[in-house]
Amino acid sequence: MMGAVSSISLHWVQVPLHEPFRISSGAVAVKIAILVEYRNGVTGWGEASPMAGAFYSAETPESTWRALERMAPAVLRDDATDVDRLVEGEPFAKAGLSGALVDREIRARGIPLWQWLGSEPRPVPSGVAIGLYDTVEELLERVERFVAQGYRRVKIKIQPGWDVEPVRRIREKFPHLPLMTDANAAYALRHLDIFRELDRFGLMMFEQPFGRHDLEGMAELARAVRTPVCADESAESMAMLERILALGSASIVNIKIQRVGGIRNAKRMHDRAQQAGLRCWVGTMPELGVASAEAIHLATLPNFVYPTDVESSSRWYSGDIVEPAIAIDGAGFLRAGAIEVNREKLEKYRMRRADFE
Ligand SMILES: [Mg+2]
Repeated sequence: MMGAVSSISLHWVQVPLHEPFRISSGAVAVKIAILVEYRNGVTGWGEASPMAGAFYSAETPESTWRALERMAPAVLRDDATDVDRLVEGEPFAKAGLSGALVDREIRARGIPLWQWLGSEPRPVPSGVAIGLYDTVEELLERVERFVAQGYRRVKIKIQPGWDVEPVRRIREKFPHLPLMTDANAAYALRHLDIFRELDRFGLMMFEQPFGRHDLEGMAELARAVRTPVCADESAESMAMLERILALGSASIVNIKIQRVGGIRNAKRMHDRAQQAGLRCWVGTMPELGVASAEAIHLATLPNFVYPTDVESSSRWYSGDIVEPAIAIDGAGFLRAGAIEVNREKLEKYRMRRADFE
């Protein structure tokens, strides 16, 4: 059978942030993403969303762009739907490409992504992630602002020197606020006393307290504190999830579509964690609207029991590229719906483009 003529376009977009996002490993002021447009009768969209520099992972926008340039012709040539085998590594490129392939498939079939996932369209609670600041006053002002907007929990970034005091001050003002910390791997077992102190504040979890590969250390911390330990950077693959399970390094897993190489892998990890009794939630980079919408659908799966990091687009960007914009309702919930890419905005923020046929 002659297939429809298919093509792929890559769009490198750069959207300014309202304010720089600071975590323990650095700061970013613009959001870079590579949108993947896959046309095969129907058009599907995906988003590859590595952080600028090597802020979060070894992959950068530049390395991801090069990987997509290698993978796109192979997808078109072989009509491939499983992008995992095309190249080694490159989870962000795979997330973008597989996102576009799956989006084209569901649009062609006329079904929503939650249905493709075998899920139900329940409202998804949204939590806000707040970066590092120079003063606790600035932090408290942000917490107050975002709590008033309805977010269902607050996560603050911590690093040595910025941990117990900010948490204590937030707790003083908001005794019952669902609150958690994310260290982005900034600590080690020698800091155990800090986590024992933080353990007094009734936090939902300690996200990625230690280094990505320090699974033994995280297991020891998990045994020493009441607060659940959550794996984020460590949970980069199914193999790492198995090690986390074997060692007892975490009882909660933050699953990021981008980090694990796409929505199929994210679903597999959700299922495996559920079977093993680990609770999950959906994290972000954060991404633009294409990947955010995908993440909300994923977050409807039953074992995503904690609020997602997906926030309103307006929290980060004045100009996201999708319609309708991603937005929480007054009670702090997101809806798994359909979005469209706004071509005018795409062109406005686009820095580079590549086409493959
Ligand atoms: Mg994190």
